[in-house]
Amino acid sequence: MTVGIVGAGQLGRMLALAGYPLGLDFLFLDKDPGTPGGQLAPQLSGGFTDPALLDELARRCEVVTFDWENIPVESLHHIAQRTRIAPPLAALATAQDRLEEKKLFAQLRIPTNTHAAVDTLADLTAAVAKIGLPGVLKSRRLGYDGKGQAVLRKAADLQAAWDSLGGQPLIYEEFVPFDYEVSIIGVRSTTGETATYPLNRNLHREGVLRLTRAPWHAPVVEAAAKRYIRKVMAHFDYVGVLTIEFFVRRGKLIANEMAPRVHNSGHWTIEGAVTSQFENHLRAILGLPLGDTSAIGHSAMVNLLGDMPARAALLAEKGLFLHDYGKAPRPGRKLGHLTLTETTARRRDLRSAALLKRIDSRKI
Ligand code: AMP
Repeated sequence: MTVGIVGAGQLGRMLALAGYPLGLDFLFLDKDPGTPGGQLAPQLSGGFTDPALLDELARRCEVVTFDWENIPVESLHHIAQRTRIAPPLAALATAQDRLEEKKLFAQLRIPTNTHAAVDTLADLTAAVAKIGLPGVLKSRRLGYDGKGQAVLRKAADLQAAWDSLGGQPLIYEEFVPFDYEVSIIGVRSTTGETATYPLNRNLHREGVLRLTRAPWHAPVVEAAAKRYIRKVMAHFDYVGVLTIEFFVRRGKLIANEMAPRVHNSGHWTIEGAVTSQFENHLRAILGLPLGDTSAIGHSAMVNLLGDMPARAALLAEKGLFLHDYGKAPRPGRKLGHLTLTETTARRRDLRSAALLKRIDSRKI
């Protein structure tokens, strides 16, 4: 049975790695040659909008999924007319537009931050007057890892933010002075069977995820996050893995964004959960029983950005697992990650803080 994956980045690669033991085959579609996924499985190389390639992918695959959020929804509709595709394209369309995402959260009574749509400089001036400073101006579409965003701290920042981002649909949001950030990962199968992973605590720097620790012990926050993600999954009659990221302020959740796919904050599940998010995504889209989402021990995941550390030193450490995505180094690029597993949350926290410091200071 062949699973098609549109986008052959590290998420696609880890899906394939999880699927081979289940006897699955994979076929990628990506515009770039030498992708992380294409190093593992056959790839159709060309644009995401090329009808001939989309037809071929649909023809050769029992089911198609995607590893990237910014694939044109129309291309995936083209595939959906020819074969089964999951997650639902309505969820993808919502996740592609920050304003639609916020509308959905409001509709489902999931708390989110105050915001306003901004299309003109006059809109921005009005939004800043209404919502106040500091705030964040973001592109509604095609944003990721903090790209297409500007923080406004004083009135004088307004013009510069407009100059750098204006001319596309934008959203202005209040800046949330959060205590910390979390994400929750859920999975729902074609049969309606649903499961959630333990809560992730996430540390971002310059908009990019650096560290995830899970399970994060915050029972009230976790219960709310699980309630909210179940609402979103039910709303879309969702199939596959879904992630929602939240700010936590004074013990309350504020939804920031959702991703209709396996997520960077769930990479720890490869070693740290009974069934990884990648395997469960495949099980879900194939209508197979879901695997146990329970954690094994206490995990932390550190992203490796820009260049890879020396691998021998890392592999000598007990309970440390290295994932190299096979990408060429480039400043800031996600090249791999490390997961460590520990017997207690305290040990995990101490060790992951030290590990992050060593990675940052290139002492590995
Ligand atoms: P995003 O692309 O929306 O996930 O933003 C990336 C990161 O920037 C978030 O994980 C936060 O650390 C930070 N950030 C984004 N929006 C806000 C906000 N409204 N208030 C405070 N921090 C934010």
